[in-house]
Parts: sequence; C-alpha cells; structure tokens
Amino acid sequence: RKWVYTFGNGKAEGGAEDREHLGGKGANLAEMASLGLPVPPGLTIVTDACSWYYQNGRGLPDDLKAQVLEGIKGMELATGRGFGDANQPLLLSVRSGARTSMPGMMDTVLNLGLNDHTVEALGHNAGDARFAWDSYRRFIQMYGDVVMGLDHEVFAEILEDEKARFGHELDTDLSAVEWQHVTALFKQVIEEELGESFPQDPHVQLWGAIGAVFRSWMNPRAVTYRMLHNIPAEWGTAVTVQAMVFGNLGSTSATGVAFTRNPSTGEKLLYGEFLVNAQGEDVVAGIRTPQSITEAARIDSGSDKPSLEKVMPDAFAEFSRICDRLEAHYRDMQDLEFTIERGKLWMLQARSGKRTTKAAMKIAVDMVSEGVISEEEAVLRIEPSSLDQLLHPTIDPKVDRHVIGAGLPASPGAATGEIVFTAEEAVEAEEEGRKVILVRVETSPEDIHGMHAAEGILTTRGGMTSHAAVVARGMGIPCVAGAGTMRVDLRNELLIGMGVTLRKGDIITIDGSSGQVLKGEVPMLQPELSGDFAKLMQWADKTRRMTVRTNADTPVDARAARSFGAEGIGLCRTEHMFFEGDRIQVMREMILAEDETGRRAALDKLLPMQRSDFTELFVIMHGLPVTIRLLDPPLHEFLPKTDEEIAEVAEAMGMEPQFLRQRVDALHEFNPMLGHRGCRLAISYPEIAEMQARAIFEAAVAAARETGAAVVPEIMVPLVGLRSELDYVKGCIDRIATDVMTEAGLEISYLVGTMIELPRAALRAHVIAEAAEFFSFGTNDLTQTTFGISRDDASAFIPTYQKKGIIEHDPFISLDFDGVGELIRIAAERGRQTRPDMKLGICGEHGGDPASIHFCESVGLDYVSCSPFRVPIARLSAAQAAI
Ligand code: PEP
Ligand code: MG
Repeated sequence: RKWVYTFGNGKAEGGAEDREHLGGKGANLAEMASLGLPVPPGLTIVTDACSWYYQNGRGLPDDLKAQVLEGIKGMELATGRGFGDANQPLLLSVRSGARTSMPGMMDTVLNLGLNDHTVEALGHNAGDARFAWDSYRRFIQMYGDVVMGLDHEVFAEILEDEKARFGHELDTDLSAVEWQHVTALFKQVIEEELGESFPQDPHVQLWGAIGAVFRSWMNPRAVTYRMLHNIPAEWGTAVTVQAMVFGNLGSTSATGVAFTRNPSTGEKLLYGEFLVNAQGEDVVAGIRTPQSITEAARIDSGSDKPSLEKVMPDAFAEFSRICDRLEAHYRDMQDLEFTIERGKLWMLQARSGKRTTKAAMKIAVDMVSEGVISEEEAVLRIEPSSLDQLLHPTIDPKVDRHVIGAGLPASPGAATGEIVFTAEEAVEAEEEGRKVILVRVETSPEDIHGMHAAEGILTTRGGMTSHAAVVARGMGIPCVAGAGTMRVDLRNELLIGMGVTLRKGDIITIDGSSGQVLKGEVPMLQPELSGDFAKLMQWADKTRRMTVRTNADTPVDARAARSFGAEGIGLCRTEHMFFEGDRIQVMREMILAEDETGRRAALDKLLPMQRSDFTELFVIMHGLPVTIRLLDPPLHEFLPKTDEEIAEVAEAMGMEPQFLRQRVDALHEFNPMLGHRGCRLAISYPEIAEMQARAIFEAAVAAARETGAAVVPEIMVPLVGLRSELDYVKGCIDRIATDVMTEAGLEISYLVGTMIELPRAALRAHVIAEAAEFFSFGTNDLTQTTFGISRDDASAFIPTYQKKGIIEHDPFISLDFDGVGELIRIAAERGRQTRPDMKLGICGEHGGDPASIHFCESVGLDYVSCSPFRVPIARLSAAQAAI
C-alpha cells in the first residue's frame, strides 16, 4: 500500500487534486514542485495512515517505515546532505496538514535531526555557531514539549533565569556559548522531569515527531475546532516531512507571509509581511514588527523600515513572479509562506487565502472581468451565510470586547443601547429619541411594539425558533437569544452576567452574529451594498431556478424584503397584525365574547384593519404573489395574564374581573402547540376565517384598482392533517370570494392551499392535493411534530445532544434531510401525482438556511420563503444549488 508521496526538484507524486490524501499543505507543495517552483524537497504521509494509527491502537503500518526512508533518501540526493550525517547534516521539518486548514490546532516540529554532533557541523557549514546552537535549543524545546510532553513553561523559565544571569534582555543577545549552556540545561531538565534522555538518534526523533503529529489530531483544541467547523474526525491529518531551509542565517536571509490580493478589501495588490534573519514562527509570534513586502505598501503604511522590494530586490522579483503564476494557476487569491536563505527564495506553503466577505465579493467580480473565472464560478465562490456581514452593522473587528454573556446568534448584526426590561419602556424611549436594547427572559407577542422600538433584543431563555428569534429576524433587528448564563432580576431591574451587574439605563451592545453580549458601547462598521454585491446577486439571479419569497407580516418587512430582491410573500402570519396598536383590545373582545353574535361584533371592527393591512401589502408587492395564512396560534396567546392586565381588560369590556379570569382559565391548554390552533380555530369559529377571507378579497379588489396590476391572493390554511379539514375551510373561503366578487363586480383569481406541517399531511398529500392548489412546507412545525420535540423547549437539550454527538445539527436551524426531508420528498411526490403543476414552497425558518435550500432544490420545490434579511442569502444559495 502506498503511504508516502514525495516531491521536490521539479517533480512530485500527486498534486492539488489530492487534498483528501495529502492534506492541504502536502497537496499544494506537490503542486508547486510539479510547476517547477523552488520548494525544498520532502515527502507526505497520507491521511489514511492517521486513520490506521487510530484504528490499530496508535500503531504505525509495517510498510510505512521503508517508504519514509526511501523518501528521505530522495531528499538526501536532492540536497547533497545526509540525515544524521556528522559533516553535512540534513535537517527536517515535520508538519501536520488536514484536508481543510485547521490553523494552529495541531503540532509541528522544526530543526529535526540536530544532536550533539550535527549541531557542530551545522555551525561549521553555516560559519555561524550561534545560529546552530540557537536552532538546537529551539528543537529541544519544541520536541520536549510536543513529543515528550514536558510543559513548554519549564523551558521558558530556564531561559528567563539564564538571560537574567547573563544580564541579557532579548533572546537575540545570547552568544553561541550561552546558547550551548542553555541547551545543556534543557537536556538536563528533560532527564530530571521525565526520567529519559533527549533522543540523539535522528531516526528516533523522526518517528517520535510523526507519532506526535498523529496524536495531535485528537488534542482537545483540534477536537473543538472540528466540532465548530463540522470537520469529521475520520478525515485524519497527513504529515509532511520536508528539508529545512533557514531564514535566520543572517541579514541576507528572511521569512514571510503574503496574500496575492488584499484579504480585507480585495484590492489587487500584493500584500504581506516579512522579517530579516528570522524563522517562520517569529513572524506569527509578533515579537518584532514585520516589514512590508512591497515598497507601495510600505509608503502606504508610513513605515520607515525598508520593504523586501528594497532590501532583496532579486528575491522580491522572483517572489512576485511566483505570486502571479500561482494566482493564475489556482485561479484564486493565494496565501503564501516563503523563506529566503542567503538570498535564495524557497516556497513553503500555498493555499487559497481567507478573506472578508467584502474582499471575497471584489475578488470574485474582478476575476470575472479579468477573464480568470466565469460568472457561475464567481457565484460559487461566496459563502451565502457570510452575506450577513454585509447587510447589518457589525462590530469593528479591531476593537476589544468586554464580554459579559453569550447566547445564540439568533438574528445577525450588532446593536447598542440602554437596557430596558419592558416593551412599554422601549416604546417610550423611542419616542424620546433614545436607543434601547430590550432585555427579557423571553418575549411574547405582546412585546411586538417594544421589539419594533428597540435597537436589539436580548433574552435569557429560548432557542433559534423562539418568539424573540423569529420576530427579530423578520424585522432585521439584531437578537441574542437564550443567554443562559445571564440573569434578569426584574424586581430590581438588574441584568447580571459574569460578575457584572448592570441597571436599567446602562449601555450594552449585543452581537447577534456571534451571540455575545458586551458591556458599553462599541464602534461599528456600517453596511455597504456596493456595486460588487449588486453584480454578484445579478449573476446569482440569472443562475437559479427556484424563486425567493419572503416571510413578511408588515409593510416595513415587505418593503425591506423587496429592497433585498424578494419576489413575493411566501408567508404573512396574520396574527402578528393583531398585536399592533389598540387591536389587541378588539381581538380580546372577540375571543372573550360569549357567543357568535358577540364574536361577529368584534370581528366587524377587525375587518377594516385587516383589509387596510392587506391592501398595503398587495400594493407594495405590485402583482407579485402574496400568500396570506389564516389565524394560526392558540387563542389564549392573545389574552391578558397578570391580575393587573385582567383588571384593565375587564374594565374596558365592562366585565367583572372574576368572570374574565374564569374565561381565561377555561382557554388554558396543557399542550397548546398541539391544541386548539391552526385550522382547528377556523373550524370551531368559521366567522374568524370568513372575516379574514373577506379582508383579503376586498383588499385584492382595492389594490387591483389602485395599482392596475393583477393581484392573485394565495390563501393558506395552517396545520391541516385531514383533507376534510381543508375542505371545510376552503368552503368558507370560496363562499366569501363569490360574495365579494359579486359585490365588487370584479373577477379576482385566487388560490387556496395548505401548509404541510404534520406528518399525516405529508403522508396523505395526494389526497389533500385534491383540494389544495399549493403546498407550503411549514418546517418549523413539521420538525417539531416529526421529532416530537417542542420547538420552544428544544434549546434546553439540543446543545447537549450536539456535544455528545447524538445529532450533528440543530434540526430547527438546518433541515433534517433523513427524517423531515423524507416527509417533504414524499409529500412533494404525492402532491404532484394528483396535481402535476401544483406550486410547492417552504416557509419555515429553513427557507433561509443554505444547506436546507440545497435540499429544496433537490426535491424540486418552486420557491423558498425566508425573513427579509435572509433574502440575499437565499438568492445566492438557490443559485449555488442550481449549478
Ligand atoms: C412553520 O411551522 O414552519 C411555519 C412557517 O409556521 P409558524 O412558524 O408560524 O408556526
Ligand atoms: Mg407552523
């Protein structure tokens, strides 16, 4: 079995396409070697060897050894040195390299091959004994820590003591003899602490280092990083063993890193830093201030330290030629590491460079106009969820954060304001022109007006689909939800987190993109929807098959969504309209009415309000499809709860508070999510559905007359499980439609459809489709009902499930393809069996999630619908899914 791939001297086994086996680093070194670029010779042990290591009790395959030795022979030949040779020693670096980069998570050993003999030869050959002893002590230090497991602090302490004793301040002040002395102390402490000596045999050193790299795949840092980035543990890491080159051989040597374009702005200019007379880790460690690579960047930064272009013009010229070559070859911005050893340039790493969203946009658009990539490739180059960065104010990444708590990143963007604890205070503050963050244990529909008035929302309970999260995303207001380590003390009006106690009126900042809660005000960067953004979205729109609609309940949402490119409304949750202004009062009258007559009297008052809402939405959408859902939530959600509220409502209704309390109690349900809600309300109280249908049709007539555009309302019935339920409600709707059309003398086309939110509805889709003209998958409820997990209580245990590896993703955020997805597939197929041209869409939170959107494309849905600020993300995801 082939475990080892070699590279160097203009040749390589494998190349960039072999990341899976060679890891990112090994694959790109092989590629650069094949291109004839100056790469120190080396070999890569494949990732399979790492898997083998873990599957076989941390052992190594028998045939690996011979293959590695063969590879080292090749390096000896290429360099004219010998591994362990006392006159011309070959020194090696041993590095990790996973399929995707895991920066700094795993271990590295440099200067391997040094021992008490080879150190002398290194010093002699370099004409620099100080350099040799410094390299040897670095090696012992690294090896002692990484391979032998002695805490690096032990070495650091010795070094500090000795520096003090010698009267030196900096490492660079130590002489060869002094380093030799430190080296002896390092070896001694290893022996004392571990009871074994530092290995002198280079081969023992090598196998120790290879084992350590494999071991580091499972260190806690790496495990956490993989969890955060969804990298499977089975992948394993490759190990690259390469001939050392030295950037610390005096003033003609250097080491540096560079990007072929500016990674924060995307500007097409070589951008990077280097240090003269240094090893790679010195640049990263930030002990010395690095210098600019180009003269232009030096002038720009106002630095008086000369650029690489100035101090080593030949090496610079070669490097910048290589930058152009690599960028053209990989057709992407590159992140490069290089070393110059006594004037000779060596390339140590190339990879596609990490960049901000803004830079990613500019680079993709520029590369299309440079003819390097196609428009489709440009569309594929942008991570859809990263668009969040562009649409909201964000915290300036340069500033320090004083974090006092953390929750779920429920709605992106950052906001600063005074703490208030009630919706009323938020509204008052807004009227006085003050900016506030509404802090609640959790929000309820009654807080809507306060949520509107606030700059941001913070809750200490609830998950990604909690009321606060869903509403905030809809409004485009930043929200941190379920900050469980923080405590709200309502009685004393305090917010407590991480030992900090804040009062009402104190300033906090929330970062809805990271979930952090910060003390005080923090500088922000404002969104900028530049020309590049518009162009890229235009290419995405040309590419995608599915349309993108929005979930919008108010004219503000609808307008925002239109400005982000929404092509209609996929879900208008009418209940949200009942919480605006004084309407809640009329709504309560309706619910608490003793009989149908009382209910109808209240409904008559609600009708004109709903009609004007719908008219406004139809006018804003100007002929685009608008799906309006009939009342969905259990009625008690609208009712007064505290004694105070009950007294207030009772007075307004001229009712005894005691009697009102009885009515409220009678409406109590043990499990309201599975209770008297959805179409069940319309069946119990058809007059509610009739009022809503009338409002919709009258609004359609009014909007058609006002805009001249044809308005085709789509009326959606929630929580249907039986065809007979839909038949009943559709009967009411059709009757009202006929009435309104006759009254108006105008024909209005309309559709009646249903949400698919219950497993029974999915399974019986072929039958339900006989009555339903469209389906919209309500995946919030469908996930809840398929898993039997309450969407409002899931955040209490889903994170534990994720930590314990029981599930990978929160199914309320990213669709469960296997279970919920299977039901969607079944419903789509069966629905279309009955009605081949039926329109299928999704309007649960998943409609704005990139992975879920890919799934929607694969089952052939016609549209996705998501909250307004996710519309651009959905447009881009839908395009990528179609490519
Ligand atoms: C759903 O259940 O997915 C849905 C869109 O409806 P709601 O979130 O209002 O229950
Ligand atoms: Mg629902």
